[in-house]
Amino acid sequence: MRLIKKIALLLLVFCAFAFAKPTIYILATGGTIAGAGDSEIKSSYSAGAVTVDKLIAAVSAINEIAVIKGEQISSIGSQEMNNKVWLKLAKRVNELLARKDVEGIVITHGTDTMEESAYFLHLTAKSKKPIVFVGAMRSGTSMSADGPMNLYNAVNVAVNKESAGKGVLVVMNDEIHSARDATKTITTSVQTFASPNSGKIGTVFYGEVEYFMQPVKAHTINSEFDISKLENLPRVDILFAHPEDSGVFVEAAVNASAKGIIHAGMGNGNLFPSTQEALAKAVKDGVAVVRSSRVPNGATTLEGEVNDKEFGFIASNSLSAQKARVLLMLGLTKTSDTKELQKLFLKY
Ligand code: GLU
Repeated sequence: MRLIKKIALLLLVFCAFAFAKPTIYILATGGTIAGAGDSEIKSSYSAGAVTVDKLIAAVSAINEIAVIKGEQISSIGSQEMNNKVWLKLAKRVNELLARKDVEGIVITHGTDTMEESAYFLHLTAKSKKPIVFVGAMRSGTSMSADGPMNLYNAVNVAVNKESAGKGVLVVMNDEIHSARDATKTITTSVQTFASPNSGKIGTVFYGEVEYFMQPVKAHTINSEFDISKLENLPRVDILFAHPEDSGVFVEAAVNASAKGIIHAGMGNGNLFPSTQEALAKAVKDGVAVVRSSRVPNGATTLEGEVNDKEFGFIASNSLSAQKARVLLMLGLTKTSDTKELQKLFLKY
């Protein structure tokens, strides 16, 4: 009799573990997914007006697949994203994922700068557990709002065992992208996120997840960046090139104490002569200069039409200007050596 009781107890404990729902934290930062407007057929609305509890309550189906806990990190349109929120978010993600009882994190975010925030977390989160960014292009009060299905899909991606170890993911409009390559490509369409150089890594359709690819560049647990003790990040500015460009913007960035400049150049990161001269001087003044491109596809290659070694410039490789900015900000927390910084742009 005693033995039967013991077996029954063991079975009970086994079932409790085997069928327990995973715990997923939803960290809300604002954006259109938390937006509300006066009319379902007008595009005007306020981003970040809806709290995380209301977001969760609006998609009750997620409670069937996970134990959902919500936290409000910020309530902003993502055009207001800043170093303080990035550091707060990354520190909280690391704290939560270090806990045994937390299986994954979903971060709701505006789509304008989701690509930068996701890449920041891709380089600073220290966990193999799934971290999924999600947003919406239509506010919750809009006709055919895309937020609820995107959130449902994001939670399904976060509980999926195959999502582990892939770094930070971006889930929008049934697609799964790696944070390294995801970028907003259309200002207003629900099909806005794409990964121009690599393609999406998977799909999620009514919660059904399918992966096609594995990101291979270093990220999360293989990243060397540690933000745990940082209170701020080095200033890095982006300058956008054009014919008849001028070096005054370079000088303005240097005078504003920028530690780094990303130059979104023409074609393969090419520079207008006066800008090239000003950037070469900035390097001599101790500012790290990265050549990137204003072209949305392809890489900016070292020693293309520009003599990078002579001027001390760094090439961004296949990172866009906005992602190159994130990597340079983190890189400058470790080194200001041009050769070492260049290595980072090949590794990440
Ligand atoms: N400006 C808003 C934001 O990024 C709108 C974009 C969106 O969330 O879709 O927060």
